[in-house]
Amino acid sequence: DNCAEDNPLIFVNPAFERLTGYSFEEITNVNCRYLQNNDRDQPELEIIHKAIEEGEYCLVTLRNYRKDGTMFWNELSISPIYNERGIVTHFLGIQKDVTSRVLIEQQLREENQSLEKTKAHFEQLAMKDGLTGIYNRRFFDLQFDVQCRIARRNSDPLALLMIDVDHFKQFNDIYGHQVGDNALKIVAGSLSKAFLRGSDFVARYGGEEFVVLSAGMTKEQAVSFAEKLCQQVRSLGIPHSASSTGYLTVSIGFSVHLLASQDTPGMLLEQADKALYVAKKLGRNQSFSIC
Ligand code: GH3
Ligand code: MG
Ligand code: MG
Repeated sequence: DNCAEDNPLIFVNPAFERLTGYSFEEITNVNCRYLQNNDRDQPELEIIHKAIEEGEYCLVTLRNYRKDGTMFWNELSISPIYNERGIVTHFLGIQKDVTSRVLIEQQLREENQSLEKTKAHFEQLAMKDGLTGIYNRRFFDLQFDVQCRIARRNSDPLALLMIDVDHFKQFNDIYGHQVGDNALKIVAGSLSKAFLRGSDFVARYGGEEFVVLSAGMTKEQAVSFAEKLCQQVRSLGIPHSASSTGYLTVSIGFSVHLLASQDTPGMLLEQADKALYVAKKLGRNQSFSIC
C-alpha cells in the first residue's frame, strides 16, 4: 500500500495502550495528532512532518497527553519502511515515556540558574560594602597591591586620598544613627560619581572613612581634585548643626607618588593618614597633601 493521505495509525501494541490510555480500536485508522491535545506549538512537530514528507528517520521528544488528559514527555522515533521497489509505504514509530528524565533535566537547569545567582550574590558581598554599595576594605586591600604594581611598572604616579567625615560622632549624637547611615550612603554615592574613570577606585575604608586610588594623576591635579571633592560634599547640603559651615563636610589627606621599587603600599597609606590628620588640625572641610 501507499501511505494514506493523513498518515493514520494502522497498528499499536499493548504497551502503547497502557502508556496513552487509548485502546487499539479507538486510535487505529486515524492520525495520532490527538496525542498533542491542543498543545501544538511544539517546534519538534515540524521535524516529524519534514521526516515523513521526505521519508526519513527522526527522533524527537514531545509533550503528549493521555486519554485522561495527563501530560507525559514522549521520546518518539520514526523509521521509514520500504516496499520491494524501494518506496516508503509505512513508518514504524517507537515511543518511550521519558517524563522523569525531562523533569530531572529541567530541575537541574533551574538549580544551576539559582546557583549562578547565589554565586554572583556572594561575589558581590565579598567585594562590596553592605551599607553604601561601594567597594569594601577587603577588596580595596587587594586592589591596592595590584594598582601599586601596575603604577610602578608603567612609571605612573599613583594618588591615594583618605577621606574622613568631619564631626561624625556628633552628627550621630544629634540626628541619630539612621540619619548617620543615610548620610554615609549619600556621601559614598557622591564620591563614586566623581571617580568614573577606569583607573579610579573608590572604597569605604572603615566607619566614616573612604579611600580613593587614582593612577596617572599629577600632584597639581590631585590638589585641585581634592579641593573640588570637599566642595562637592559640602554642597550636598546635609545639615550639621555642630559643624562650623552648618553642613556635613569631609577632610582629605592625600599623597601622590611615583613608586620606586622599595616603596610599599603601606607607605602611601601612612602618608595619606598623616596628611588627613593635618587637614583636621587646620580646621576640617579641606585637603592636605604629603608627597
Ligand atoms: P573627626 O572630625 O575628627 O573625624 O571626628 P569624628 O567624630 O568624625 O571622628 P570619630 O572617629 O571620633 O567618630 C567617628 C564616628 O563615626 C563614630 C561612629 O559612631 C561613626 N560611625 C562609624 N561607622 C558608622 C556607620 O556605619 N554608621 C553610622 N551612623 N555611624 C558610624
Ligand atoms: Mg574617622
Ligand atoms: Mg571623622
